[in-house]
Amino acid sequence: MADRVRAAVIGGSGFYAMEGLSDVEELRVDTPFGLPSDNLVVGTLAGERVAFLPRHGVGHRILPSEIPARANIHAFKQLGVEFVLSVSAVGSLREDIEPLHMVVPDQLIDRTRGRASTFFGDGIVAHIAFADPFCPELRTVLADSTREAGATVHNGGTFVVIEGPAFSTRAESNLYRSWGADIIGMTALPEAKLAREAEICYAILACSTDYDVWHDTHEDVSAEMIVANLLQNVEVSRNAVRLALGRLPEVRNCACSYALRDAIVTRLALVPEETKRRLGPIIGHYVVQEVARWRSSIRVSSGSPNGMLRPARTGPGSSCTRGADSGAPSSSSAIRPLSRPPSAYIRGRASASGVCALSIAARSRNSSSARGRRPCSACRSQIRASNASTGRRSV
Ligand SMILES: [Zn+2]
Repeated sequence: MADRVRAAVIGGSGFYAMEGLSDVEELRVDTPFGLPSDNLVVGTLAGERVAFLPRHGVGHRILPSEIPARANIHAFKQLGVEFVLSVSAVGSLREDIEPLHMVVPDQLIDRTRGRASTFFGDGIVAHIAFADPFCPELRTVLADSTREAGATVHNGGTFVVIEGPAFSTRAESNLYRSWGADIIGMTALPEAKLAREAEICYAILACSTDYDVWHDTHEDVSAEMIVANLLQNVEVSRNAVRLALGRLPEVRNCACSYALRDAIVTRLALVPEETKRRLGPIIGHYVVQEVARWRSSIRVSSGSPNGMLRPARTGPGSSCTRGADSGAPSSSSAIRPLSRPPSAYIRGRASASGVCALSIAARSRNSSSARGRRPCSACRSQIRASNASTGRRSV
């Protein structure tokens, strides 16, 4: 049995619990973006440790516009989730997508207004690629599993997301049809965007419950109609999700897993510490990588008693520019992973002036600023070694 929570299921209208879980625990996960829609129910299903979250909260208390999507995705990320299977009730905008059919969409049109749709801002800018908003690998798994669960599946389709909570007007419904949209709902965004920003694979199982309001011969959508059809569909949805959980890839090969790699524009050293803390589960490994890049540009001093680090690409005379004598890390190197103190990663320190007296002297033997100043410990080690070999008095 896996202990790591690799997968999460978000249940939409009518899908308020995930049956068949074992070793269940309920978690209240606080996030910098507030509390998720409800407590996370974590259990084991189909060999996967999975977190279940009812999108509208237990008892269906939260409007589509009020769903704390950032808190939901951030909470998943805190648990280490890599895959999110989202189940949503939708209206059909196409004759052949009948009520009780299932759709695994591959495109989105955003008609929401004013929803917080990014984790970024407050000193950090990122532009993720979102041309294909769903994970192709997870979509395939979900479509195959839903077909195996006995449903009629439409693999692909454009999902238009409206603000709600009112249903569309007839003119709007026909407009969306003219745009080529296939299904309509209220909750896929910003969820899908946030999942991509968090480098989580995300796919939707959309349960068609009605023909919205465009159809001439079918009754206009109503909440009562949706609930009645959802109750017929929920068992198929659960079976489809269970089958999909058993087929998740061991290793992700899709681009979702590195969506931020080329998306973050801001130099991480300039990102405010508070922002880095808030986004720790999302950008933390990139912060660590930047530290690693910085470290790869320096080398361990062979004569240093404490493994002190020095710049690799500077000349011999300037080897003390990050000597370990005193002072805080220089501003350009004050990057640290959120869970560890700076000294654990960055042991090289700048002197008060940022330059060792010895390196100044090496560059200019007559430099007045170097006279009378004590070289940093790295240089003292070198000098001791040099003096030992020449018989001169040590520094
Ligand atoms: Zn993916």
